[in-house]
Amino acid sequence: MVRIIKIHPDDNVAIPLGDIPEGTEAAPGLLTVQHIPQGYKIALQDLKKGDEVIRYGVSLGSLLRDIPAGGCIDENVLKMPRPPDLENLRGTELCGGTPTGKTAGTNVNQTEPLPVHLPHTFEGYEVPGSCFAGVRNILGIMTSVQCVAGVMNVALRRIKDELLPKYPNVDDVTVLNHSYGCGCSTTAPGSEIPLRTLRNLLHNPNFGGEVMVAALGCEKLKVDMLLDPGENNAGNVIVLQEIPGFKAMIDTILAMAEKKLRRLNERKRVSLPLEKLCIGMQCGGSDAFSGITANPAAGHASDLLVRAGATVLFSEVTEARDAIQFLYRRCKSPQLAEKLAAEMKWYDAYLQRGGADTSANPSPGNKTGGLSNIVEKTLGAIAKSGSAPITGVLSIGETAGRACHKGLVFAAAPASDFHCGTLLLAAGTTLQVFTTGRGTPYGLAAAPVIKLSSRTDLKMLWDDLIDFNAGTIAEGKETISQAGERLFRMIVDTASGRYRPFAEKYRLHNDLCIFDPAPVI
Ligand code: CA
Repeated sequence: MVRIIKIHPDDNVAIPLGDIPEGTEAAPGLLTVQHIPQGYKIALQDLKKGDEVIRYGVSLGSLLRDIPAGGCIDENVLKMPRPPDLENLRGTELCGGTPTGKTAGTNVNQTEPLPVHLPHTFEGYEVPGSCFAGVRNILGIMTSVQCVAGVMNVALRRIKDELLPKYPNVDDVTVLNHSYGCGCSTTAPGSEIPLRTLRNLLHNPNFGGEVMVAALGCEKLKVDMLLDPGENNAGNVIVLQEIPGFKAMIDTILAMAEKKLRRLNERKRVSLPLEKLCIGMQCGGSDAFSGITANPAAGHASDLLVRAGATVLFSEVTEARDAIQFLYRRCKSPQLAEKLAAEMKWYDAYLQRGGADTSANPSPGNKTGGLSNIVEKTLGAIAKSGSAPITGVLSIGETAGRACHKGLVFAAAPASDFHCGTLLLAAGTTLQVFTTGRGTPYGLAAAPVIKLSSRTDLKMLWDDLIDFNAGTIAEGKETISQAGERLFRMIVDTASGRYRPFAEKYRLHNDLCIFDPAPVI
């Protein structure tokens, strides 16, 4: 019976698949000297104070006291290493050079075409002028300020009840409510982030190229800041302060929505090459298994998508920062590598201004799940990015759609699930893959979210919330590549509308959260 998992030959710790009582033989010749909870680290040899704890072949920090073989290692006995210095990365050999193959996420041999037995097409919605296709046919109504949210929510209920049933080819209607738009500085440093986020959000391919904006009229965020040239006209924009009263507002909104719905209803799914897909990878509520099962499976699926010519975005700056040395060398060009480092530097400074650093990242639940610190969390998290070279880097709020980035792209964003999910939508993703160890019912109105569990226990607890169980990998029932292919097929089925993830089926929709590093006025 498999009790513990060691990831890399150099590791001096392993992860128990379940709780192991004191005095149990965890592996041949290795007796536990204390109770080891599931997901915590068990010492594989006698370790002394000051010794490095090695997992994924990388140091997670040094020990604050002696730990005997069979002892338990948690956050309390580990001293964090300092984050890699961003100034000393220049001169690192980039991919195209020798692949190191040494640690999780550093094998860069990923250029072969997609295997023939896997699907090479999906059924999606083409969007005029867009490099990516939609995977859902949704009317997305943008708001320019929070002031209009109440009116828009009433209008949304009416649209859903009275109009949507008449247009069966339209999947849904959503109002893009957010807390930005006024009481903010639209010129302060950092304000370019929320501005481009909203602008890119409303152009997500799942909205089919239809533009509809509800504004108040006196807010700081002018509609022109959101729209492309030619889009700001009476056919697309409603200004509430120009309408006589609430009833007339609702009538005006419904009339415009109906025009848009009529056009969206004409659209049909067509067979498209996978290069029309733009997928986002995220994790939330991670545990010690996330980096062994769910994230590597997502990473393998990501490699397959990249080989098919699709665009895959991974993100979460504070969960990539402490592995920058591995990501840096995976960049396709020195310019990209420097842009990646610059994004990390920007975030370091942002955290510093608030008196925080990446050590603030792991949540209490992460730690209960066995993750001792941000280094351990990061090494597991970047496994989502697979092993492909990084061919694009987006600043926070930028979209992959405008420059038509292909391949594996790092999209800078906070690791916070809600901010990151929103920013991935703005970046052009039409479908998101979300891995979790502790469990989250996370979902989005604008794009389907496939949720992966890192452990079979979680799938059993939440059978009707978790779409994909990667716990099979830890149990030895499936290899990472088998699980990755299974996930790849689920992604293609979801994109094609043949599979609807639980969060979509039950309409579990989290709020959009706009990241605004500029001051609130
Ligand atoms: Ca996250």
